[in-house]
Amino acid sequence: MKFLTILLTVLACNNVPSTTVTSTEPGAPSPTATVAAASDTLIPAQYTDGKLVKVQKSEDAWKSELSEKEFYVLRQEGTERAFTGDLWKHHEHGTYVCAGCGLPLFSSETKFDSGTGWPSFYKPISEDCIADKTDSSHGMDRTEVECARCGGHQGHVFPDGPPPTGLRYCINSVSLDFVKQ
Ligand SMILES: [Zn+2]
Repeated sequence: MKFLTILLTVLACNNVPSTTVTSTEPGAPSPTATVAAASDTLIPAQYTDGKLVKVQKSEDAWKSELSEKEFYVLRQEGTERAFTGDLWKHHEHGTYVCAGCGLPLFSSETKFDSGTGWPSFYKPISEDCIADKTDSSHGMDRTEVECARCGGHQGHVFPDGPPPTGLRYCINSVSLDFVKQ
């Protein structure tokens, strides 16, 4: 009986390190990364204490998940060539979501033909889902549009859009996925 007790103790002790190792694995998700990335899947915004729950990943992780073109535009603030994307003349009813994280960004109801060769919208679905910042690259002061959840570069917003907002969100097709309704 005494032997059995010792054996059980040893076994119990042996279990502790393996449990610890499992919980500290490098690939373990961080508490903020509760929203999985997806392509052409709508993943609604989640809020904790009134704040949008963000997706945070290393650039290496993004690189392995995204296509080369998506990585260039979303993570390196690239721009696709005009008239080359698959969504600039797309007219179905539905929702345009971030190609990086599935957050709904624009509705087909606010899409218009700007003649620029990029998908254009006069407003986002929600101001919460879009982050604006000034971009002074290429010798111009422009306002960059990002996905507020994953920080993926979407395009730029200009003050020459149609009513009712007068804004033109000029977005890369490759930054968006379309979810039909
Ligand atoms: Zn995103």
